[in-house]
Amino acid sequence: MDYSKFFGDALLRLRDERRYRVFADLERIAGRFPHATWHSPAGPRDVVIWCSNDYLGMGQHPKVVGAMVETATRLGTGAGGTRNIAGTHHPLVQLEQELADLHHKEAALLFTSGYVSNQTGLSTLGKLIPNCLILSDALNHNSMIEGIRQSGCERVVWRHNDVAHLEELLIAAGPDRPKLIACESLYSMDGDIAPLAKICDLAEKYNAMTYVDEVHAVGMYGPRGGGIAERDGVMHRIDIIEATLAKAFGCLGGYIAGRADVIDAVRSYAPGFIFTTSLPPAICSAATAAIRHLKSSSWERERHQDRAARVKAILTAAGLPVMSTDTHIVPLFVGEAERCKKASDLLLEEHGIYIQPINYPTVAKGHERLRITPSPYHDDALIDALAEALVQVWGQLGLPLGAKAIAAE
Ligand SMILES: *Cc1c(COP(=O)(O)O)cnc(C)c1O
Repeated sequence: MDYSKFFGDALLRLRDERRYRVFADLERIAGRFPHATWHSPAGPRDVVIWCSNDYLGMGQHPKVVGAMVETATRLGTGAGGTRNIAGTHHPLVQLEQELADLHHKEAALLFTSGYVSNQTGLSTLGKLIPNCLILSDALNHNSMIEGIRQSGCERVVWRHNDVAHLEELLIAAGPDRPKLIACESLYSMDGDIAPLAKICDLAEKYNAMTYVDEVHAVGMYGPRGGGIAERDGVMHRIDIIEATLAKAFGCLGGYIAGRADVIDAVRSYAPGFIFTTSLPPAICSAATAAIRHLKSSSWERERHQDRAARVKAILTAAGLPVMSTDTHIVPLFVGEAERCKKASDLLLEEHGIYIQPINYPTVAKGHERLRITPSPYHDDALIDALAEALVQVWGQLGLPLGAKAIAAE
C-alpha cells in the first residue's frame, strides 16, 4: 500500500485542474492598513491589500487593539477550557449581551468561528425539530451546507434568491410539517442581497422558521451595523441571525442570536459548542469594542460605501469587466481559472497589489473572478493605481476590455 501516492495523486489532480492553492506570506501593518509586507521569494516587499474581509479595517482600530492588549494583560491569554469546565469568563458574557443587543434578540451564543456557528448551529437546530424540512438557498456557504447535512434532515434547495421557487417548495411541504428556511443576507462572491422581507412574508404565511447568515453584512449595513435585516427593518422577524466577528469586526469568532429558548437549546445540545474551549477573553473584549464602536459611528460605513462606489466607477470607466452589485463587493470577471490565477500573480509581483483569485469550487467553473473589497482606508491614489495596474495586466493576458469585456461577462 503506497499511502504517500494517495496524497501525491490528490495534489496532482488539483494542479491539473489549476486549483492548487498557494497562500501569500503577508504581514499586515497595524495603523497603515491596507498596506502590508509581502514576504516574497525575493525578500520582503511593500504591497497594498485589495481583497481583505476585514472590510472596515477594524482589525487595526486603536480601540479594538487597545481592548485586546488591555484584557490580555489583565486576564491572561487562554479561556482555560470549555465553558462546561472553566465557566464563562466575564468578557464573553459581555460580548454575548452586546450581540443580543445588536440584533435586538433575547440571547446570543458565541462559537469559535462563523464556520462552527453555522455547522453546529444548523445541525443542532435541525436535530431538535422533529421531521424538519430545511429549505436552503442554492448559493449558501459551505458551513451552512455542512450544518444542514449533519442535521440529517431532509433538504430542498431553492434557486438563488428566487422567492417564487421558495414559495412552491413551502406549499409542497404542507402546512403541518416543521420547516426551516436558511439563507444568507448578502452573498459575498456576487455581492447581491437576499429579499429578506419577502422571505419573512413567506415564512410567516407558511409557518416556517428563518435562519439568516449575516456574515458579510454585520458592522457594514443598518444604522447600528446590525446588518441587512436591520437596514431593511426585518430584524425582529428573523428567528435566528448568524454572523461572524472575523470580518467587519476584525477579530475572530461566530455567533447565533435569537429567542432565549432557541439559544438555550443550542447551548445545551450542540457538540461543536460544548466540547471545545471558548474564545479567549482578549478576543472577546476586542470584538465587543469593535461592535460598540460601530453601533455609534457611521463614518466607517459611509466611507466604505463611498470607496466601493468610486472603485466601481473608476474601473468601469477604464473598460474593466466590473460585475454589477448593489454592495461593497466589486467582482471583476475573468471567466477562466488559469488567467485568473495569472492576473493575481502579475498584480502582486509587478504592481505590489494583492487580490487573490476566486476559482472553482468557490465559484462555478467559467465564473472565475478577482474579488475586490475596498475599505474606508483605500484612498483615491490607491484606486487610480489599482485601475492602471489592472488595465496593464488585462493587456498582458489578452483579456477583453471595454464593451467586449462586458459582453464576455
Ligand atoms: C466566512 C464565512 C463564514 C465563516 O465565518 P468565519 O468566522 O470566517 O469562520 C460563514 N458564512 C459565510 C457566508 C462566510 O463567508
